[in-house]
Amino acid sequence: MSIRIDEGRCIGCGRCTEACPGNLLLLKQTEAGRRAEMREVRDCWGCTACMKTCPVSAIGYFLGADVGGNGSTMTMEQKSHFYHWHISKPGQDEVVITIDRENANQY
Ligand code: SF4
Ligand code: SF4
Repeated sequence: MSIRIDEGRCIGCGRCTEACPGNLLLLKQTEAGRRAEMREVRDCWGCTACMKTCPVSAIGYFLGADVGGNGSTMTMEQKSHFYHWHISKPGQDEVVITIDRENANQY
């Protein structure tokens, strides 16, 4: 399992770098401006803190076989006070799980 950052969406706000408890994310300078980057993909344990803090849904999460199967992805979209978790697996319909942000850490 690991996160991946969509550089095309990232606006370089730095929130994810502050949210990661393992200090795994950093900001790099690119031609398009600041962008978040993962220091070491293997060190990520998938807490999703970075995803929850990203204001533009630029961080995706790739699910391992134990929780979703190879090729499955999870992205998060924030609307109002809800998190909408989108889970996609090739060849299957997308599943969306909606959770009130105030209760997000109870699951
Ligand atoms: S999922 Fe958690 S451990 Fe992994 S990069 Fe994001 S905040 Fe850090
Ligand atoms: S929180 Fe999102 S937009 Fe901000 S730096 Fe991280 S990936 Fe980019």
